[in-house]
Amino acid sequence: MKARVFSGVQPSGNLHIGNYLGALKSWVKIQYDYESIFCIVDLHAVTMYQEPQTLRAKIEEIAGLFLAAGIDPKHCAIMVQSSVPAHAELAWMLTCVTPVGWLERMTQYKAKTESQQAVGDGLLQYPVLMAADILLYQAAIVPVGEDQAQHLELTRDVAQRFNSLYGETFVVPATHLPLVGARVMGLDDPEKKMSKSATAAGHAVALLDPPGQARKKIMRATTDSQPAVDFETAGAGVRNLLGIFQAFSEWTDDRMKAHFTGMRYGEMKKQVAEMMISHLEPFQKRYREIVGEPGYVSGVLREGAERVSPIANATVDLVKRRMGLYALS
Ligand code: ATP
Ligand code: MG
Repeated sequence: MKARVFSGVQPSGNLHIGNYLGALKSWVKIQYDYESIFCIVDLHAVTMYQEPQTLRAKIEEIAGLFLAAGIDPKHCAIMVQSSVPAHAELAWMLTCVTPVGWLERMTQYKAKTESQQAVGDGLLQYPVLMAADILLYQAAIVPVGEDQAQHLELTRDVAQRFNSLYGETFVVPATHLPLVGARVMGLDDPEKKMSKSATAAGHAVALLDPPGQARKKIMRATTDSQPAVDFETAGAGVRNLLGIFQAFSEWTDDRMKAHFTGMRYGEMKKQVAEMMISHLEPFQKRYREIVGEPGYVSGVLREGAERVSPIANATVDLVKRRMGLYALS
């Protein structure tokens, strides 16, 4: 039996090149080596207010983007978190074994609550729900961007704590980070990671941005006061742009250095934009074909939920038995 992979994306905005290079691209690469489950985590998205109609539309858009990226629905399950109630059920059981101090330490919790006056409890509980998503399927590997490494660490802690309290129950999952593109930074501010929920216009290139707009965002990206590329002294903005080029092109470090050293920033940005667009254009064409087929995406999501539900329900059943909870049967 193949080991299982689980990963997800929140339908909380427009998917960007960071989500693609950090997550989707690895999923496509490893999908046939594992039994793969890719999830649209809508229960996570509502930890911040989402306009209901927009959220509903985003769910199918993101499923379309998974398919356009090359996820094969014949081999992998593509599903929506809220269509499998066991995610929320297991999250409660895990909440009860998670010390609140572990959650208060999470960097994302601190960052996302900084600007808010009233903080929803969901934001604090988010990593427990994420642990439930992963442990529910006894996933061995979780391919994510670097920003999720801390939540994965917590998932392992929760699994180990549960296993030591109630006996071996969960597979303790490993984090899988891409070698390049694990942390794409904001184009407007290379000190902050590129995020769907950031609102500044020049912050991110969305996967569905028209090529002209995508090019403009790269050309306007923040760099530094040097005129040309120097790999030793380049600032965060330049390193980010070169990282985007390398992640799309899959060039080696040596080839990157030989090609870009001494290149003026204007020319370098042009080449980064063209490399990115050469991947985005065929991707967008596939996306339009996929969503143009009536009922196709919703069928994939229904089938995905049907395929994973027995696995999820078996885990909840096992957890109930371990904890002494009541199950009719
Ligand atoms: P939000 O701002 O709503 O949290 P997000 O851009 O962080 O959106 P998520 O849905 O939280 O996106 O994450 C989906 C996947 O994309 C995760 O595996 C995450 O690690 C990865 N990811 C997110 N941002 C980046 C980034 N800037 N670089 C690389 N990977 C990323
Ligand atoms: Mg995020």
